[in-house]
Amino acid sequence: MLRKYNFNPGPATLPLPALEKIRDNIIDFNQAGMSILETSHRSTEYGTVHARTKELMTKLFHIPDNFQILFLGGGATLQFCMVPMNFLGPDKSADYIITGSWAKKAYKDAKLYGPVKVAGSTEADKFTRIPKQSELTLAPDARYVHLTSNNTIAGTQWQTFPDTGKVPIFADMSSDIMSRKVDFSKFGLIYAGAQKNLGPAGVTIVIIRNDILESAVQGLPAYLSYKTHAPEDSLYNTPPVFAIFVVMTVLEWLEGLGGLAEMEKLNKKKADLLYNTMDADPEFYRGTNEKASRSLMNVTMRLPSEDLEKAFISEAGKVGLHGLKGHRSVGGIRASIYNAFPYEGIEKLVEFMAQFRKNH
Ligand code: PMP
Repeated sequence: MLRKYNFNPGPATLPLPALEKIRDNIIDFNQAGMSILETSHRSTEYGTVHARTKELMTKLFHIPDNFQILFLGGGATLQFCMVPMNFLGPDKSADYIITGSWAKKAYKDAKLYGPVKVAGSTEADKFTRIPKQSELTLAPDARYVHLTSNNTIAGTQWQTFPDTGKVPIFADMSSDIMSRKVDFSKFGLIYAGAQKNLGPAGVTIVIIRNDILESAVQGLPAYLSYKTHAPEDSLYNTPPVFAIFVVMTVLEWLEGLGGLAEMEKLNKKKADLLYNTMDADPEFYRGTNEKASRSLMNVTMRLPSEDLEKAFISEAGKVGLHGLKGHRSVGGIRASIYNAFPYEGIEKLVEFMAQFRKNH
C-alpha cells in the first residue's frame, strides 16, 4: 500500500504502528481467540483496556488526582449541550468566548439552559485571532468560562489561556488535546472528540474536576448527566469499546515517542517548518491569521486566486498529499497536522509548495 500524507482535519491520520497493532487485534485480541470488536465491555480483558487507557492518559497528560476521565458518545457536539445542562440554570450563568464556528455552536446550545454571556469575540475580525485578556469581560460569579482551545476551521489557537480568576475554564480541546502540556489548575472541565489527536471518531473524552462534578444539577435524563457516568466508570451503558482500544494504542505510541514534552517539541517543529515556508513567500502563500494566534494543529493559508487554490489541492493530491482543502465555510488551504502527522509529510509539502510556486 502506498500510504498518503493525510492532512484531513478529522478523522485524521493515525500512527502506522498503532494501526498495525489494531489490525492484528481486530482478528485476535490479545490471543483471546476473538476480535476486540467482539469483546464484551464487562469482560476482564476489556476491563484492562479501559483502565490502561485512563492510566496512560493520566500519566501522559499529567492529569491531577482530583479529576476523573469519562468516555462518552455523541462527539464534542453532545458536550455543547451536556455542559450547560449539567451546570446552568435560571440563576446560574456562564461566560463564552467566541473564537470560531465551534465556539458559536457551543454558545447557541448553552443559551437554551441559562443566562449565558459573550465574554469576548473575534468574529468581527473573521476569527483571525484570539482575543487579548484586556478585551474580555468576565463575570466574577460565572459558573464557568467556556472556550475552544484550538479553532479547527479558522486555524487559531490559544497560546496562553486567559486569567479567569476563581472561575474555572471549561474547554473544548477537540483539535489540540494532548498536543501540549496544560496547567490543569485553570480548568474545571475539558472535553474532546478523539478523532483528531487521539484515535477514531466514536469516543468523546471528558476530564472533569471532582468538586465540579458534584455540583452538577440533578434530574437530567440518565445519559445526559455526568453524575450517571462517573460512579459507573463510564460503564453505565456500553462504551465505545473499539474506539477506546484505539485510543489506548495511540497513547502507547505517544508514550514510546517520549510523552507530551517530546510531542510538543515535534508539533512546534512541524508547524515552524510550514509557517516559515509560507512567510518566506507571503505574496503567494498568505497566512490567514495574526501570527501570535496561529495554530500548531491547523495551518491555514490563501493563494492569490481561487483557481490557484483548486490547482494546488488537485496537484498536491497527485503526489500523495491528501486533504488540503480548507473548510467549506472559509475556503483556502488548510493543513491539519495533529500529533500523528509525520514531520516527513511537512517536508514533502514544503517541497511541493516550492515546485508549485515555480510552475505558477
Ligand atoms: N469542536 C471542535 C473544535 C471541532 O473541531 C469539532 C469537529 N471538527 C467539534 C467540536 C465537533 O466535534 P464532533 O464532530 O466530535 O461532534
